[in-house]
Amino acid sequence: MVFSFIVPTRLQRATQRVLHRLFHTRNGLFAGLHIALEAAVYGEYAWEVFGYCQELEFNTGFLLLPYLLLAVNTGAFVLCALTNPGTITESNQELYLRVYAHDGVMFRKGVMCRTCHMEKPARSKHCSVCNCCVHRFDHHCVWVNNCIGAFNMRYFLIYLFTLTAMAADIAIITVAFLIQVVLLSNLMYGSYVDEQGQEHEVEIPFLIQHLFLIFPRIVFMLGFVIVLSLVLGAYCCFTLYLALTNQTSNEWYKWRRYKCPHCQAQQPHDKHTAYRNAYSKGVWINIKEIIKPPTVSERKKKP
Ligand SMILES: [Zn+2]
Ligand SMILES: [Zn+2]
Repeated sequence: MVFSFIVPTRLQRATQRVLHRLFHTRNGLFAGLHIALEAAVYGEYAWEVFGYCQELEFNTGFLLLPYLLLAVNTGAFVLCALTNPGTITESNQELYLRVYAHDGVMFRKGVMCRTCHMEKPARSKHCSVCNCCVHRFDHHCVWVNNCIGAFNMRYFLIYLFTLTAMAADIAIITVAFLIQVVLLSNLMYGSYVDEQGQEHEVEIPFLIQHLFLIFPRIVFMLGFVIVLSLVLGAYCCFTLYLALTNQTSNEWYKWRRYKCPHCQAQQPHDKHTAYRNAYSKGVWINIKEIIKPPTVSERKKKP
């Protein structure tokens, strides 16, 4: 009785500790998992799809494109993981306070970080995983094991877009290969007999089943990259929208949770707070700001 009581509690605590370590401390687990998945997909592509497509005389440039994307993606991944996103320290805090003005709605002057005991510059946020405040904080990305802030956002965008392009490109090549196999084998014009002895014309579900039996690894990989393309594609659209409107994920989230301090209305409104995104300066300048973030030294020079 006592034993059964103790074990679940201990198990619970152990699980909590593991979960805390996974999601609340910096660790390379997700980065490792990401590399392993990439290796599995590219291994399958190089091992089977590439060879079969060459036999079917696919254009070599078309087949090599996923490798080019992989090279760019790996570079962006390394830069994103190793670049300081904009850690705010005692020595640079004064300068970061001058980069963005407090908008008075989402970011108020004089608010202190309870952990770092420093005034929070506008658009910054304390990351509990990295245990520091980050300038123009977007989010903490477990896949690159780093915060995404002002100085690595550009690398993160390249990383995200090339990752989506990699998944979509491999999906397109694999689908083109399987279509070619179906056309060459004349499978579409055949028929099959089911368990009840009835004859049916070949339809898409039967074809997929049939292809899975011939190329199980390829079809499995195709399913994975299709799902990945859709999920990443949606996330790309969201990130692009944020980039074009000069918002961070943190600001977007804060905005959705915003309550008017005067009347608790869910959105800032003209009666109490006429809120406009104070940081957006038009699409072109917003993009330029991500490519070349306004640096502290640049601002310092201004009177
Ligand atoms: Zn802090
Ligand atoms: Zn972080």
